[in-house]
Amino acid sequence: MTDSAAAIKEKLKELAGAHSVGKAFLSVTLSTSRLDDWRLFAPAFLNSEFNRITRERGFSKEDKRLLQTDLDHVLDVIKYDVERSTEGLALFVDGVGGYDERIELPFRLMNRVVIEPSPHVRPVAHALSLLEPFVIARVSRDESTLLLVDELGVAREDELAGPWLRSSDRETGEQSIKEYYAAARQDALVDQHFKEVGVALARLLDSTQAKRAVICAQHEIASGFKRTLPAAVNAQIVAEVAFDAAATTGQMVAHARQAVQEARHVEMAALAARIKEGLGRGGRGVSGFDDVLGALGRHQVQILLVDRNYRVPGWRCLECGWVGLTAVPRCPACGGEVVPVADAVGELVRLAIVQNGQVEVGENIPVLDELGGVAGVLRYG
Ligand SMILES: [Zn+2]
Repeated sequence: MTDSAAAIKEKLKELAGAHSVGKAFLSVTLSTSRLDDWRLFAPAFLNSEFNRITRERGFSKEDKRLLQTDLDHVLDVIKYDVERSTEGLALFVDGVGGYDERIELPFRLMNRVVIEPSPHVRPVAHALSLLEPFVIARVSRDESTLLLVDELGVAREDELAGPWLRSSDRETGEQSIKEYYAAARQDALVDQHFKEVGVALARLLDSTQAKRAVICAQHEIASGFKRTLPAAVNAQIVAEVAFDAAATTGQMVAHARQAVQEARHVEMAALAARIKEGLGRGGRGVSGFDDVLGALGRHQVQILLVDRNYRVPGWRCLECGWVGLTAVPRCPACGGEVVPVADAVGELVRLAIVQNGQVEVGENIPVLDELGGVAGVLRYG
């Protein structure tokens, strides 16, 4: 079974704060979508990456032997124990510390091996941004449906019949009653139905992890429906997709998901612009690797915005949270021992998660490039 977004969030927080008891954590991410291929390919890839990294890091024979035990465990898991529905697999192992965590995802992850003092959580943090649940409100004049969609598809479906339909059920269902209502009060009844759907929608957004909604309706109906919504709920409607009677639910969900992703992209671009405006003394914006690291050191980062593709090697301190992009003999902050890390930006992501910061991932955002690929909103100016 692939994990739910809520379960992953929980695991991510724990992983981000974990320190290896042995020499290092072995973090492995793999794309497992073509099951037969990757079972053949993965062991050779893992072994060669393991040998390269342990050679480069110059681990002692004893350390390497302990790490080899962790690798053997990973090889066993992928050989015998991965579900067919899983497309992306993340494994975090520190045998000496008794640590063995696995996250299975419904989409691909980059193939990667990392052997470092902390789990390499960044790929999972990125995945979470794609796993966002959302609501589809399929609205008509008298019969509407609210669908809660998570990473696997429709998780919950609430059907809402309007008063027009209800009244004909309650009575004899004779056409004449409908016609009566149709003539006399149809507009008022449609309005009442929209309001009931709006209340149910507000409740669903309030009681679940979903923060965004998409309306699926004829345009005129969508406009009428939106006019009945409170401003706060309206603000959570990020897109409108046309109602297509011939489309399957799966096709509608795919359209809506695409619309949510596009809305997210626009929102991330706006966040980058907001950070840029807030740069400087007294503002709440911070940008660039060093300044973001400084803000994390002061536990000041409320939202971290990182470019999906900004990944640079660096160095980190084993004693404190310091990370840097250039080699130093000792930690400039505390004098502790430093070790190389494959992804210094991933360390910023990890620190933000440990501090309960919100991590957002953007891609192809020109303003974020200008800001140096990583930026943040401070908790206070
Ligand atoms: Zn240090």
